[in-house]
Amino acid sequence: MTPVGGQHSDRYRGRFAPSPTGPLHAGSLATALASWLDARAADGVWLIRIEDLDAPRVVPGSARQILDTLARCGLESDEPIVLQSERTDAYRAAFTRLHEAGLLYGCACSRKDVESAIAAQAASTSIYPGTCARRPPRVKPIRAYRVRVPADELSFVDRAAGRIAQNLQRDAGDFILKRADGLWAYQLAVVVDDAAQRITDVVRGADLLDNTPRQIFLQQALRLPTPRYLHVPLVLNPTGEKLSKQSGATPVDTTNLLAELNRAALHLGLPAFGPHSIKEFMQLAVKAWRQRSTRQSA
Ligand code: GLU
Repeated sequence: MTPVGGQHSDRYRGRFAPSPTGPLHAGSLATALASWLDARAADGVWLIRIEDLDAPRVVPGSARQILDTLARCGLESDEPIVLQSERTDAYRAAFTRLHEAGLLYGCACSRKDVESAIAAQAASTSIYPGTCARRPPRVKPIRAYRVRVPADELSFVDRAAGRIAQNLQRDAGDFILKRADGLWAYQLAVVVDDAAQRITDVVRGADLLDNTPRQIFLQQALRLPTPRYLHVPLVLNPTGEKLSKQSGATPVDTTNLLAELNRAALHLGLPAFGPHSIKEFMQLAVKAWRQRSTRQSA
């Protein structure tokens, strides 16, 4: 573990936040590598957070497996690893603040109710039309809690994609912060944790690009700082789907991590290095990432 505040600067704090739903695959390795390289190229701090909030999806043993594989690649958290399953008090406190600010409402809609409400809209959309916001549930029990989103446009600058603008009402709808099964939603947890860990730079997969405006909206509502964002390209399977356990991603080959890291680097647009060891690979990759960042900001 590298001491914080010594060699590594607090001006940059990055993180990798895997969900322990299976072993590391090529896509998650590429994301981990990108966030680590970005932190090291900035002489920053790099953290690992295990996003194990969605208990039904957690695969026992996979957090350990992910951490072991990362450690064998030299990717180790600079501070103690945070587990979201141990942070529910912080999520509850943020939820209460939003509730007291009048931003939340209880929603009694079942999945089927939501589907029919969506289908009943004139425009073709998949956005919840706010049925329970307009007509608060009286008879049916509340299942989930949603946050009321504004009609204004919200924009941010992603370091790769550039300016991204969304109208949350049109593009996301009132989204769930507390699920019908009582679990805290990812959007709430990620915002609370990024702030608690004083993350300055989020580097993650491009599938989360369109979640970012929702997260920035929550940061603003909770008066939390907004980090910089860099969304890196996803590794896709041959049929063009994001690698995941559901799309049949195979775990990274832990018998040849150097080859896996080289593939991840190529995917991220770094040159082929052909190093002899993981340590050498990491040194070359940090240098290449730093040169690329300097070129991009020139
Ligand atoms: N836990 C999420 C995942 O594994 C990543 C969340 C994030 O980086 O914000 O896809």
